[in-house]
Amino acid sequence: AKVNAELIWFNGELMPWQNATVHVMSHALHYGSSVFEGIRAYNTHKGTCIFRLEEHIKRLFDSAKIYRMNIPFTEEQVVQACKDAVAKNNLKSAYLRPLVFLGDIGMGLRPPIDAVADVMIAAFSWEAYLGADAIENGVEVGVSSWNRLAPNTMPTAAKAGGNYLSSQLISTEAARHGYAEGVALDINNMVSEGAGQNLFLIKKGVLYTPPGTASILQGLTRDTVFFLAKQLGYEVREESISRESLYLADEFFMCGTATEVVPVKSVDGIAVGDGSRGPITKALQDAFFGMFDGTTEVPEGWLDEV
Ligand code: PMP
Repeated sequence: AKVNAELIWFNGELMPWQNATVHVMSHALHYGSSVFEGIRAYNTHKGTCIFRLEEHIKRLFDSAKIYRMNIPFTEEQVVQACKDAVAKNNLKSAYLRPLVFLGDIGMGLRPPIDAVADVMIAAFSWEAYLGADAIENGVEVGVSSWNRLAPNTMPTAAKAGGNYLSSQLISTEAARHGYAEGVALDINNMVSEGAGQNLFLIKKGVLYTPPGTASILQGLTRDTVFFLAKQLGYEVREESISRESLYLADEFFMCGTATEVVPVKSVDGIAVGDGSRGPITKALQDAFFGMFDGTTEVPEGWLDEV
């Protein structure tokens, strides 16, 4: 999709969007050596704020740490750069995409120990990831024939570019079958996550979500749902979830930074509950979006003014 921002932050400098280019021999292009983040800025009651910015940047640095990438900036500098990318593009709300990658560092798959990563941050408007109507009416999803990454192959705790080859297989297959998104099982065939979202099901008033061992990215939105559910008095259990329990759930929703909180109305063509958004999902969505208009109390540091 075409983006609507003029400036991009690239290696310490805000530059015209069209000037932020890389060489075709970039390491990341050949070997997938990149890590990234997806972050949202909201137009809130306190002005434009970036949601859980410091934690997203911490995760970016953690992802880089796993792959031994040297980032030539501090977390504080990257946090500030994110704010600049939003402010200097005059965006009231935005999706932010910080990316750390190995550029033109020479051929050979093993990066030299002293290779320095390139860093870029794009900020642009990006509306509801699964469509505007999805928030209210929900989406239809299908269980993917592709399993999620196996432990100790490619670590799902790192938000690495290469992991999204798995996500592309899942998401493309889902679209081919007419679904808005795919749900992947882990290598034990227990429920893992969506191509770019974490999952929660609700049964008899209790929320269930796969544990970290299910090869998931432990999303910040997932963590936000933990917080909001607790505030609303709901219990959340991190438990292994079977495929069929998705069919038998009272409610089912997906969540992530781009997706936000989206109800799932059917899985593999089987209606979840009565096939419409359930009351607990609605309450959690209201609490979620309420963080950005002041109706939900937000922990210290979650809304970072630009
Ligand atoms: N799982 C995957 C595979 C993702 O790409 C994302 C989106 N970053 C998530 C889960 C949700 O993570 P977050 O809530 O931190 O955006």
